[in-house]
Amino acid sequence: MKRLVLILLCLIILTSCSANNKKYDSSVVYEIFVGSFYDTDNDGIGDIQGIIKKLDYLKALGIGDIWLTPIHPSVSYHKYDVLDYYSIDESFGTMADFDMLIDEANKKDIGIIIDLVLNHTGVDHPWFIEAKKNILNNSCDSSNKCEYYNFKDTNENNTTKLNNNTYYESVFGSHMPDLNLDNENVRKEIENIIKFYLDKGVKGFRLDAPFHYYGNATKNNEFLSWLNNTIKKYNKDAFIVGEVWSDEKTILSHYESGIDSFFNFTASYTDGKIVSSIRSKRAYDLAEWIYNNNNQIKNINPNAFNSMFLSNHDQGRSAGFFTNNIQQQKLMINTYLLSSGVAYVYYGEEIGMLGSGIDQNKRLAMVWGEDSKDCNNPVGADYNNTFNSNVKIQIKDKNSLLNYYKKVIKIRNNYNIWKYSNLELIDLNDDSIYAIRHYNDDQNIIVVHNYSEEDKNLNIDYKVNKLININGNCSINSKILKMDGLSSVILEIGE
Ligand code: CA
Repeated sequence: MKRLVLILLCLIILTSCSANNKKYDSSVVYEIFVGSFYDTDNDGIGDIQGIIKKLDYLKALGIGDIWLTPIHPSVSYHKYDVLDYYSIDESFGTMADFDMLIDEANKKDIGIIIDLVLNHTGVDHPWFIEAKKNILNNSCDSSNKCEYYNFKDTNENNTTKLNNNTYYESVFGSHMPDLNLDNENVRKEIENIIKFYLDKGVKGFRLDAPFHYYGNATKNNEFLSWLNNTIKKYNKDAFIVGEVWSDEKTILSHYESGIDSFFNFTASYTDGKIVSSIRSKRAYDLAEWIYNNNNQIKNINPNAFNSMFLSNHDQGRSAGFFTNNIQQQKLMINTYLLSSGVAYVYYGEEIGMLGSGIDQNKRLAMVWGEDSKDCNNPVGADYNNTFNSNVKIQIKDKNSLLNYYKKVIKIRNNYNIWKYSNLELIDLNDDSIYAIRHYNDDQNIIVVHNYSEEDKNLNIDYKVNKLININGNCSINSKILKMDGLSSVILEIGE
């Protein structure tokens, strides 16, 4: 009897684990720049209670996880210069608010991913204050934080002068001193921070600026490998995505660390592979590149997966890439949301918010259109925003961009093949057609995009059980797929 109970228990655990993985596989992550999202106490600054208030909105959008830009105390509005990794910036709320966010999000099956800023701290972090004091007093020893940072006695690139013969490494400017990640005590601090947040129930971490840890892939990967093992030691399912904002080869080389995923900067943004291929209508070339890129990732690490996005808080907003062509804008959305890997939506993208130029313009207040006031824009923002729509209007308008995003994400969430599946590149003998088959033991689909304005009749050599129109009004008859210009479909394939 005991044995039977044990077997049953194991089965239940196994089933629930695989169910979790299934949900997780199709997850779309929503990036929130916290201070600009939703303000609940009328100080003009978005806060954690504001995110809790908007969980239903995010659930309805179909997202599975939220990535929060840094939430810790900091003197800047962007908070990438952390002063205390163990508390919440008071303009955002309290640790109790953060605990509540995790609980409330988990109730809705939404995971919380936090930004882990390890390359540097803020210049006023107590570690740096102590280190600086001891350097200046000539009283450094291994116990007083001098070794937490990279002090140098010569003026090199990316250093800041402390006194006549001491400089400190500061890749992102004098207010952000770089941590010495080789130091054992720094690594212990990092391990404690990781454990603290995993114990709270965060789903994982977005790694800020890992390329700059050491500035070269070999050394970065030694540290990233330690970091990956340290995080997975506490939660083997923890999610980790790194920001290596560099060329394709450099991004790929970081997969050797074992980290789950890196943002695909080669595909993203207005000059990236997706948008430039839509402009040039060279869809087959894009499909070939995406196919190869995913295979290269899996060849390095079979557990790894792509992280696809259009823009983030450091880039001009994606609605600005195709301002005069909504059909091409929709193709861009279809292409990245229906591609291998996890997909990210930067807050406001789903309503077509605009913003470019200086950083503040890329982080403007979310436009809710409610009676209560939206957040203030970041100080210094100078974007002349002619955006005259909002969430409230778009929820009601069935043809809105918001409802389009909802539709495509919902279709994406019907399939469990985005993170882990086999791919087949399909050549339909047309440069303007993208076709990739995604398949595993359970599911088998072909994603097809027509980047040309012309209608197409394409020979499909598969048994198609069902055609799902993403946009357009396409059809299939006797293995001839009729595609509208600038449209996308999913074909469900049978035996
Ligand atoms: Ca507030």
